[in-house]
Amino acid sequence: MTKAAHRFVDHWLVDPVAKRAGVATLDVEGSQITAVTWRDGEAAAGATWEAGANPGAGDPVRMILPALIDLHAHARQPGASGSEDVESFARAAAHGGYGSACLMPNTEPAADSVEILDAMVRPHSGAALSMRLLPIAAATVGRRGEQVAPLAALVAAGAVACSDDGAPITDPRLFAEVLAAAATAGIPLIEHSEDPVQSADGEAADGAVALRLGLRPWPARAEHEAVARNITILREVAARIPRARLHLTHLSTAASLQHVRVAQASGLQVTCDVTPHHLALSDAWLMGEQRWSWLPGDDAISPSAAAFNTNLRVCPPLRAAVDGAACRAALRDGTACAIATDHAPHSRERKEVEFGRAANGIAGIETSLSVALAAQAAGELSLATLVAALTTGPAALLEGKLPAPTLSAGAPASLVVVDRLATWVPARANLLGRSINTPLLGVALPGVVRLTLHAGATAYSG
Ligand SMILES: [Zn+2]
Repeated sequence: MTKAAHRFVDHWLVDPVAKRAGVATLDVEGSQITAVTWRDGEAAAGATWEAGANPGAGDPVRMILPALIDLHAHARQPGASGSEDVESFARAAAHGGYGSACLMPNTEPAADSVEILDAMVRPHSGAALSMRLLPIAAATVGRRGEQVAPLAALVAAGAVACSDDGAPITDPRLFAEVLAAAATAGIPLIEHSEDPVQSADGEAADGAVALRLGLRPWPARAEHEAVARNITILREVAARIPRARLHLTHLSTAASLQHVRVAQASGLQVTCDVTPHHLALSDAWLMGEQRWSWLPGDDAISPSAAAFNTNLRVCPPLRAAVDGAACRAALRDGTACAIATDHAPHSRERKEVEFGRAANGIAGIETSLSVALAAQAAGELSLATLVAALTTGPAALLEGKLPAPTLSAGAPASLVVVDRLATWVPARANLLGRSINTPLLGVALPGVVRLTLHAGATAYSG
């Protein structure tokens, strides 16, 4: 990794910590940003941020953002390095503009001990990674939902949160115990909210597409009833332990997001994130329709030859266009604090099977910024909202466990340079992750990452 000096002249900068945006020149020396000069002054840059940070026609096409932060990713080590490991993950993440990522503990074995937590983030080659990996500990032993994991020891070893992602904690008493133990250890519980009885064998969101394709329904209420229950338990625990924090990950239904909105308005410490695929794709993609969920479409479509693409099988499933709209509305009004990728690489063996037998998951860390920029270009999200959801939103949940994602002088030079008007087409040849299970293969996407710096070192350049 080289640490060259850089001078970025007249780029479109967005600094979500300083709350400034506009044309600026930024200098990097060694591992630090040494100077930032806003062309029209800091006050004007503050006003541009307040107005949404969107560049206008004629503004520079090269944009600089703080390196992105992912709250939810799977790097598949230990246990499934054929799908990904931290080295391939770090290359993919840097290509996506990311400088930090939280790794979920559903490894093999589950990360419920200091040894496994350590093995989750240790590169096989021994070489330093060009990004920061933040391990999330299992919330319960073996992710089995029977007994709280040794959270204090796991936090001492570097865990930034706890979660049984993919294995919802169904026992209400244990859920309360985990919330209390996590609060005592000083970390949030990140919960995948799903009632596994109601979602059992589900293949696609309940609705017209599932009916049309003959796929077994995964009902929306299996998510939003679990969300409501989890919020109720948080309310009881928080009455005793005000520090208790619950973060609900990859919410996908309008009703789930509304539960969170109402709970937040009552003062409860509950937060949530949405994924790039839930905010931008709908279940119409299962029919073979490749259309952003904000675009009007024909409800009477028939399945095309591209139907049943198993790269669309994900949990929770892709839902109706109105649910995608609810994800974007939740980002706009702050109900959702983050866009989290749920990057879930899978080998071809686990995806090249019939739809209902395919593994759940989308490898999304290389395309998430582009998907968010597509929503921004359509006027669905302001640039300020999407940059906050990819930087300061996740950082706030992690409470100072990483440097502030800012572009000010003296900060680490961890940033991404994006050509916002250029487009690219994801393909086996240009994706850097080990698994390419993304439904966006062959789809033209806006926003090409040109350079990702991690503390001044070049993590990606293309
Ligand atoms: Zn999950």
